[in-house]
Amino acid sequence: MEKKRATNGKFKTFLKKNVYYIIMGVCLIAIAAMITVALVVKDNKDAVDPAGPSQDITPPADDVVKPDDDKPTVDPTPIDPDPVVPTPTAIVFACPVADVNILKDYSIDTLVWNGTLKHYAVHTGIDFAGNDGDSVMSAYSGTVSNIKYDVLNGYTVTITHNDKLTTTYSSLNEPTVTVGQSVLKGEVIGTMGVTATNEYLDGAHVHFCLYENGEVANPYAYLTIGEK
Ligand SMILES: [Zn+2]
Repeated sequence: MEKKRATNGKFKTFLKKNVYYIIMGVCLIAIAAMITVALVVKDNKDAVDPAGPSQDITPPADDVVKPDDDKPTVDPTPIDPDPVVPTPTAIVFACPVADVNILKDYSIDTLVWNGTLKHYAVHTGIDFAGNDGDSVMSAYSGTVSNIKYDVLNGYTVTITHNDKLTTTYSSLNEPTVTVGQSVLKGEVIGTMGVTATNEYLDGAHVHFCLYENGEVANPYAYLTIGEK
């Protein structure tokens, strides 16, 4: 009993002498424990954070695309303030003969003397005089739409140029073109002759007429010859 009491006494004495050191030691241990806990918590946070920050750094796909969507991908076609309106090609006739010698001019309003028929009459076309066999050319590109012979006009070739314009060439010798044949402007379609009995005394010539929508029209609307 005494031995135990003595041991207790020594222990109490030890506590009294070192109480401050013991308290400091306990405090240090407590501080160390707190620091350790703090570090562990921080490590846990860091372990979770990488997924978070990476999401913050990399914007969502929508945020990446949106700026591009806001910008027009194709520049809108600028409105032309002065658009060029295509103008149809003006039709200009070629003279149906090489050497221009107008025997009788177009005269739809004024009667002119017909020496063969011995009377005054309108003249629906232009008579180009020449030698029998001289070439006659198509005034404009088109299609041979008719070839006919009658005593008054002789051989007549009709060329349809479009849905509006048609030209005829009368007092020809027998033509070499055929109906349905395409011809170019200036292409030979026959030769002038003396086949039209109504202008027989005028000699070899071609009686050239223009029809607009089926009606006789002034050839000079498309044909320019000298001062005409
Ligand atoms: Zn004539």
